[in-house]
Amino acid sequence: MKKAGEKEADRVIRRCRVDSGRKFRLSQCDPADTAGLSLEGKEAKELLRRGVEMLADLQGKLYAQDRRGVLLVFQAMDAAGKDGTIKHVMSGVNPQGVQVNSFKSPSSEELDHDFLWRTMKCIPERGRIGIFNRSYYEEVLVVRVHPEFLEAQKLPPSLVTKKIFQERYEDINAFERYLSRNGYTILKFFLNVSKKEQKKRFLERLDMPDKNWKFSINDAKERGFWDDYMTAYEDMIRATSTEWAPWHVVPADNKWFTRLAVAATVIRALEKLDLSYPKVDKAKRRELAQVRKALK
Ligand code: ATP
Ligand code: MG
Repeated sequence: MKKAGEKEADRVIRRCRVDSGRKFRLSQCDPADTAGLSLEGKEAKELLRRGVEMLADLQGKLYAQDRRGVLLVFQAMDAAGKDGTIKHVMSGVNPQGVQVNSFKSPSSEELDHDFLWRTMKCIPERGRIGIFNRSYYEEVLVVRVHPEFLEAQKLPPSLVTKKIFQERYEDINAFERYLSRNGYTILKFFLNVSKKEQKKRFLERLDMPDKNWKFSINDAKERGFWDDYMTAYEDMIRATSTEWAPWHVVPADNKWFTRLAVAATVIRALEKLDLSYPKVDKAKRRELAQVRKALK
């Protein structure tokens, strides 16, 4: 029998997960949705704390087993809360078992390679949880919204056709399939913030001296391309939500909900892996007994 909390968590996860890309419409996702939950600050914090504990335990097993890897991909508009979500959800896990990578504007070395190269180098080792704060998905988002980035990628002109983003979706799907066939669990999160809430958070960053550093003029510029980004996000989610690497569209206007939904999704996925600490064999047990004796 599932506990009440588990049922609730499953409901939240199902609501966010995109099972059928073909039917997906971003306009049907409410950034302010909380799946019917309304939690006081303290309650949400307590739930998250318990989630973080569970996650730490599962991660310990993942690490000890050293067979599987987990990749969490985060994409979002600015100020949707990627950094805060990563920080809060991962706050209790052993830092040795987690690798966070952020992908910004590519360097000239990166532009000298194929588009998956820089991320491929950062795929987590077995036993680890890898987090991509932005990812190869920027290649079908910002690069699509601003075609001048594509020009900088030094591709042979004959390969830059109208089909290029469609081809990238295919390559990404194949890459993720390849990873899943190698023992990787891939979970992708689009933190869906509304344009109105983004404005509020930008103003906070401008008004509060301690938050000034977080604001960049470029963020405000990108806001001007909001509709283009939403089209790119929708097309991307439709084309790359797969059985082996599903997208989760997580409402992001309420930070407490975003964090709980992401934590629940990661916990559930790890639970499904049936992780346990490796059992030691007879020979090893004998060895341990000898050491114990010697120590005494
Ligand atoms: P924060 O603002 O919270 O520090 P961030 O992820 O927004 O984090 P920034 O340095 O503000 O980091 O922005 C990184 C920028 O790099 C984003 O605008 C993103 O779209 C851009 N970027 C990432 N990958 C590519 C790419 N392949 N080509 C062009 N631009 C890219
Ligand atoms: Mg930014």
